[in-house]
Amino acid sequence: MRMTRTFIPTLRDDPAEAELVSHRMLLRGGYIRKLTAGIYIYLPLMQRVIHKISNIVREEMDRSGAFEITMPVLHPAEIWQQTGRYYDIGPELMRLDDRHKRPMVLGATHEEIVTSLLRGELRSYKRLPLNLYQIQVKFRDEIRPRFGLMRGREFLMKDAYSFDIDEAGLDIAYQKMVDAYKAVFKRCGLETVMVESDTGAMGGKFAHEFMVIVDTEGGEATILSCPECGYAANLERAESIPVNGPAKTEEAPQSYSPVETPNMKTVEEVTAFLNVPARKLVKTLMYRAGEKVVAALIRGDRQINETKLSNAAGVPMVEMLDAAGVEQATGAPVGFAGPVGMRADISVIADEEVKAMINFVVGANAGDRHLINVNLTDFRIDKTATIRSAEAGEYCPRCRKERLISRRGIEVGNTFKLGTKYSKALGATVLDEAGNERLLIMGSYGIGITRTAQAAIERFHDDRGIAWPVPIAPALCHLVCVNSGDAALSAAADKLYDDLQKAGIEVLYDDRQERTGVKFADADLIGLPWRITVGAKGLASGMWELKARMADAPEMVLAGEIIPRLLAILKSES
Ligand code: ATP
Ligand code: MG
Repeated sequence: MRMTRTFIPTLRDDPAEAELVSHRMLLRGGYIRKLTAGIYIYLPLMQRVIHKISNIVREEMDRSGAFEITMPVLHPAEIWQQTGRYYDIGPELMRLDDRHKRPMVLGATHEEIVTSLLRGELRSYKRLPLNLYQIQVKFRDEIRPRFGLMRGREFLMKDAYSFDIDEAGLDIAYQKMVDAYKAVFKRCGLETVMVESDTGAMGGKFAHEFMVIVDTEGGEATILSCPECGYAANLERAESIPVNGPAKTEEAPQSYSPVETPNMKTVEEVTAFLNVPARKLVKTLMYRAGEKVVAALIRGDRQINETKLSNAAGVPMVEMLDAAGVEQATGAPVGFAGPVGMRADISVIADEEVKAMINFVVGANAGDRHLINVNLTDFRIDKTATIRSAEAGEYCPRCRKERLISRRGIEVGNTFKLGTKYSKALGATVLDEAGNERLLIMGSYGIGITRTAQAAIERFHDDRGIAWPVPIAPALCHLVCVNSGDAALSAAADKLYDDLQKAGIEVLYDDRQERTGVKFADADLIGLPWRITVGAKGLASGMWELKARMADAPEMVLAGEIIPRLLAILKSES
């Protein structure tokens, strides 16, 4: 690739739209351009990275025994209605009508399509196990598209679907995918941590996520893990053994009474005013859960976990009521809701810890008023579940010995044991050995190709630019001719360019009529693993500068040794 011939529109200045370092570098390095919110054009360098990652994914998927197919992007809404996800996913699912006013959907994922494919085709268990995958664009109208390719509305995913006759078969298929994923990320030069995750709207019971650990804002996910036994889960899912249990359990229960709490809406304000610790207060948080309104009760010093609350409420997701909704449901402004006298049609879900509390403070469902010395006998609880988030510093739920630590991660892939959710909804069965009809048992496995590319940048960069791992770099080396206006230098660089290509080494050749400083700055920004500089000194000495992207200084290498060196690097690093 000659820079004068291809399209790499690097930028001098930071684009205002970029919130994250990796996003900024993709824009500045001429990798991507935004079309509209969450939707990007992949330019030549980006396309090469996508190819590299996709090829690694393909090789490992094929090795695992899966087969590549391509499913359509545009689907009839009917299939999504049959599984119920047309309604459950909500506005994240992109919808449109065709010219006959038939409702259509842009694929957000492909469980529906692959299951509908196989329901008509597979007759016998003898055709199983089967794993089909694709590398395909996905559409999701994310509520907050952000961070460039990290959370796009259109993005590239590898999605695989396994089909088995029984749970034992699924276990094997799942393990094969886990092994393939570990191999994929390792080959991409990315260290990942595999964590337990919630199954959410996907259905099923068992899921893991593969996380790239970063200590930047780009780590959207919080991971709690145990340094002792290796337990690791994302925050949505993580459990813990609390360090500070209920306060003063030996107290005798008293009768409750109202107190004036003028304008005090937060836990901090109320507990400071009443001079009690936050763990003596029960927060009442009001949510919409499908058709219902739910009041969630948790201890004042805890954080609500909306995923756990959704699971407890038996809905795909919950949404906090707005101020008007809270007022309508409780008769009081935000900050004064409480369980005592809660309307009968509102279901009250309490966190496990609330069950151990005595003489606590709650909102009074009236403005500027709380109740003190409330006890469990004073109100109705419809369901008890753990609906609080686990926290760093609490004990590991598995080994119970060590305290959990918190880290940030980027989810680059995940694996789900789906079970029969989709085969049941769509009637996908096979006959077993005894001739009985059995539902297909499924797993589903995703890797965000475009998110993985950006995660690699978030992980590997310095303040000058990207530092790609060799296996997924758009090219191995960046050839800089310090003065492309000088005929002798230019001829030497052209020759080296040809020789590199003949040797099968991918090279980006900066043959522009630009100042050396500009060329070096762009080379650092674009971030190829090696830079070769053809300069005047080399014409006399027969040596060119060779520099690894993160090395402090270049070394002088004999022209004839450059190619063998790079070939050796290629061999050892990919
Ligand atoms: P998240 O929790 O980040 O929204 P998800 O659980 O919705 O992810 P899946 O539906 O399992 O993700 O998709 C599989 C993979 O696709 C994810 O692991 C991630 O790498 C990628 N992915 C998901 N949503 C996006 C997006 N909006 N933009 C880019 N990649 C995405
Ligand atoms: Mg999502």
